[in-house]
Amino acid sequence: MIYLDYAANTPTNEEVYRAFYEANKTYIANPNANHQLGKKAQEAIRKSTHNIALLLGVEPEEIIYTSGATEANNLAITGSCQQYRAYGKHIITTYLEHSSVTGPVAALQKQGYEVDFVDITPTGEIDLNHLKELLRADTVLVSISYVDSELGIIQPIEAISKMIKAMPHCLLHVDGTQAIGKIPITLEAIDLFTFAPHKFEGLNGVGILIKKKNIFLEPLIHGGVSTTPFRSGTPTVALILSTEVALDKALANQSKYDMHVKGLNAYMRQRLGQIPCMLLNSTSKSSPYILNISLKNKQALKVQEQLSEKGIYIATKSACCTLHTPSRPVYALTKDRKRAMQTLRISLGYGTTKEELDEFIDTCEQILLKP
Ligand code: PLP
Repeated sequence: MIYLDYAANTPTNEEVYRAFYEANKTYIANPNANHQLGKKAQEAIRKSTHNIALLLGVEPEEIIYTSGATEANNLAITGSCQQYRAYGKHIITTYLEHSSVTGPVAALQKQGYEVDFVDITPTGEIDLNHLKELLRADTVLVSISYVDSELGIIQPIEAISKMIKAMPHCLLHVDGTQAIGKIPITLEAIDLFTFAPHKFEGLNGVGILIKKKNIFLEPLIHGGVSTTPFRSGTPTVALILSTEVALDKALANQSKYDMHVKGLNAYMRQRLGQIPCMLLNSTSKSSPYILNISLKNKQALKVQEQLSEKGIYIATKSACCTLHTPSRPVYALTKDRKRAMQTLRISLGYGTTKEELDEFIDTCEQILLKP
């Protein structure tokens, strides 16, 4: 099996599993219970949250646990826009965003919010001049992914944030799901930041929203107070403790993995570039973990299926996208609908090898060069 869909999900690291298993065995009580066992579980969460905060350079009370990045994005976007609706109903986002961002933004639009999409440059970065033009006194939110899930473009978040800080009531939400554990990030200038550990060898079913202290949100899930008043529900001790292990490992090894993956990405670009029907969509600003290509006069879905039959797994688009529709990010970049209909996304993991890429590319050549 050759798995090249790490942007959708990663295999869980053994140490993360162990942490989950041990925590689940040890902490049997509800952390919200006020007896001794409940307090023990609560204390384990407190310690883990403290460590996660240290790893991220934020404060423990700025961490909100969710069920994944989708919920975290929904809470960040809907929660902040509803909380601050008295200041305005204008949102700015991009065509590169994941459906868990475009979804809540579209839902808010139906409720009367006005939405603008900022242009991108030929290399896929946000056009800062256009962003400046779009920002208004009633803009309450700018939502931009650090690294988008299809082209993998790394956005200049610091420059974007400086522009936003000059506005009276505007918050910056950054979807960091494809960035964390992969590229160096700083959360200092970001108001709302979201991610999920299943993208860096952590477990599924947990996500994190970093919400800076001075910001309030209208909750999406109403109930009792949990680890924070912004998200009710019994806190999942074992998922939280396992997230700490996954995050610690990913950040500690980030530069080592970065060198390895950059080498693989360059190799893949060079070899795939020799296949005549191949068009490269990822740009010089893309993360080394994601390579997006299009196929000229070939059906991407068919090629994906043929590869899958041979035990090679790649994506056409982000896993949450509707099939048989063009890739929005690729269309935004190329303005070529045909090209955006035939995209393939190859995404690398920490453990991907050159031998795996050779087999993938050799198989691609066999499939694509067949008359
Ligand atoms: N945001 C981005 C950029 C993603 O790539 C994904 C998942 O593919 C999500 C959000 C949603 O993550 P989750 O599956 O944890 O809900």
